[in-house]
Amino acid sequence: MKLVYADNNATTQIDSIVLDEMLPFLKEYYGNPSSMYGLAEKSGTKIKEARQRVAALINASEDEIIFTSCGTESNNTAVHAALEKQPEKKHIITTRVEHPAIKSLCERLARNGYRVTFVPVDKKGNLDTQLLFKSITKDTAIVSVMWANNETGVLFPVQEIAEDVRKKGIVFHTDAVQAVGKIPVDVKSAGVDMLTLSGHKIHAPKGVAALYVRKGLPFASYLIGGHQERGRRGGTENVASIVALGKACQLAGSRLEVMNTKIRAMRDRLENELLEKIPNSAINGNRENRVPSTTNVGFNSIEGEAILLMLDQLGICASSGSACTSGSLEPSHVLRAMNVPFTSAHGSVRFSFSTYNEEKEVDYIVEKLPPIIARLRELSPFWKQ
Ligand SMILES: *Cc1c(COP(=O)(O)O)cnc(C)c1O
Repeated sequence: MKLVYADNNATTQIDSIVLDEMLPFLKEYYGNPSSMYGLAEKSGTKIKEARQRVAALINASEDEIIFTSCGTESNNTAVHAALEKQPEKKHIITTRVEHPAIKSLCERLARNGYRVTFVPVDKKGNLDTQLLFKSITKDTAIVSVMWANNETGVLFPVQEIAEDVRKKGIVFHTDAVQAVGKIPVDVKSAGVDMLTLSGHKIHAPKGVAALYVRKGLPFASYLIGGHQERGRRGGTENVASIVALGKACQLAGSRLEVMNTKIRAMRDRLENELLEKIPNSAINGNRENRVPSTTNVGFNSIEGEAILLMLDQLGICASSGSACTSGSLEPSHVLRAMNVPFTSAHGSVRFSFSTYNEEKEVDYIVEKLPPIIARLRELSPFWKQ
């Protein structure tokens, strides 16, 4: 078996259709879209098409899409814009399980004079929405809640939260990087003010993303420079990558059905077979309310890092905790927020699929993982059968 790539929440391979679409803009059409000649016009036209494609995937209109360099930039921009436009407000509400692009930013803001409420989750990773609603005050500038969690796949009730938050006149942003391309995302029916999506999680290259900003929402740019993106984000457009993001969004829309059927069934089968074959294992996260492609499995009494090393030797790519925190010995902040018992939080592995994965890859994981767990447990001082 060649490489089994089951780490699509960390990043995805570039789709060959996407690559073909972007390559001419790295080769012959290198013009700056702001320039006044035919060579540049081609770039401008293609950016417009990409903007329409991104907008179409999330039911936005073209002029509500701002291209950025990454999901991290989109998240930072959203929070920055809300604070800049409401300088009198000093309170932010977010959750304890956000991606570092929101979590660390909010921790920084907390050190710089803002009050931040990090809303907790229960042991299945469900958000305590009542506590969130109770935390809202006249001083609240923005509520930022992720749509789908990158480590567990658990979905938050974004529509319900957005409705309550916006009724109170407060800005609502969602980090939908892990939701877009996995479940239908509609900014109108969800009622969000701002939404983040990122290219490299949906088979476009790394280094391109978008921020949806609802028409009429007061906005302040984060990167200050030229008039690109109608003055909302300075910096010469990353034409080829923007073209790629547009194509990737178009493909993602056409693959949602496969995600929800074939990939969901594949993920569920992996879970059921692992739980059956491996004693003292458990799924982290609400199994009834997740994206179809992610599973986070906890194996008692062993180290996730050790499991990953042994999987890697067999050509299986997965992750433990989140890629950003691996390398530290602390279990991930997401699993800690869920109160996953220490011994099993340490032995947690995330498998995340895309529409590229195949049934025989699940067979391979199901064959190879149980003996790895058994062997590591034999060596573990914590393991008592
Ligand atoms: C990957 C990810 C991001 C960051 O996106 P980049 O484009 O890598 O900066 C933000 N939020 C979530 C939930 C993610 O999974």
